[in-house]
Amino acid sequence: VQLVVRPDATFRGYSGTLAGGRVRTGDVVRLLPSGQEARIASVLDAGEPCEEAAAPAPVTVCLEEERDLSRGDMIACPAEPPAVTGHFRATLIWMAQQPLRCGVPYLLKHTTRQVCATIERILYRTDIQTLERMPSQELRLNDIAEVEIETHHPLYLDPYDENRLTGSFIVIDMDSNLTVAAGMARENLQQEGAESTPPVPFHRGLTVWLTGLSAAGKTTIGTGLYERLAARGYRLEKLDGDIVRKHLSMGLGFSKEDRDENIRRIGFVAGLLTRNNVVVVVSAISPYRAGRDEVRQHIGSFLEVYVDAPLEVCEQRDPKGLYQRARAGAIPVFTGISAPYEPPERPDVVCHTDRETVEESVEKVFRAVERALREAV
Ligand code: ADP
Repeated sequence: VQLVVRPDATFRGYSGTLAGGRVRTGDVVRLLPSGQEARIASVLDAGEPCEEAAAPAPVTVCLEEERDLSRGDMIACPAEPPAVTGHFRATLIWMAQQPLRCGVPYLLKHTTRQVCATIERILYRTDIQTLERMPSQELRLNDIAEVEIETHHPLYLDPYDENRLTGSFIVIDMDSNLTVAAGMARENLQQEGAESTPPVPFHRGLTVWLTGLSAAGKTTIGTGLYERLAARGYRLEKLDGDIVRKHLSMGLGFSKEDRDENIRRIGFVAGLLTRNNVVVVVSAISPYRAGRDEVRQHIGSFLEVYVDAPLEVCEQRDPKGLYQRARAGAIPVFTGISAPYEPPERPDVVCHTDRETVEESVEKVFRAVERALREAV
């Protein structure tokens, strides 16, 4: 069976032209894309009930259980399912005046589905006179070539030699809406189980430690950095000083001992994550140099980012009103006012947040992280 479905309200089943094989009442079939299996309750050939039907019959198939299939999904034989793939080799017959452009999105129409696709590269062109394979950078009218295609959504594809309906497609130019090529699928190039989007390359763990005065910009840069890294698909975690103090370090105060203990705990968790190949973004005032150095030694794969803004600037920003309360004596121990801050001596990155935009600071740290991860492999 290879049936591209069209839900059929009249028969409470799924209709379509049988693209291969046969369907029989009682057969177990595979439903794509879910991969679920189901049993056929009844078969209608051109609207008439029958025991079985063979390709290319226009059939309606009713399943024993209610299943959710929509237009363009497929009912397939479990023993010979089509490849669910977004990356394949195909033969193209170029039918347009304008030449093929590699790496540019086209529309690819396959069965009843239309997906966005790019022709990644031309493997070779076939000389129609001699059948010789020629290297080629471009395709022109009537050229025949072997190409590699990536689609933005997976297709349910059979090799053209096995199934002419589910193995063929056309390519449409997005601007002109003209059909520019006819294609025949040859070989699935996607590894089994692989996502259709490119996988994230292996990366090691790294602790990115943002230190600086309150209101210097640690949380802001940490959040921006996290988002940039998340968009690249990195395995990530963040440990923000304010949040850690509500959970991991609940009950600790702001004496030097308690602050050291807080940093030690953050460092311990960051170390565990780093060891498991996670990129950890830590935002914590961490005022004491010795405490930070100890954590760096313990973790190893470590990037120290000094988020630097003059005290006056931080005090002027005062987003949480803490400086005001500290000046009024309501917070007896406050870094920069009544407790020391020891700036890093050799930070890996410095962000001068009084003269850089948030985007500039984030970009600077992001680039340093990518460099560090490349070097760590
Ligand atoms: P911290 O986490 O260090 O206490 P926050 O990130 O909570 O600091 O607050 C820093 C404030 O400074 C935010 O209001 C942010 O918009 C502002 N700011 C201005 N320029 C920058 C910059 N380049 N980087 C980070 N924050 C900046």
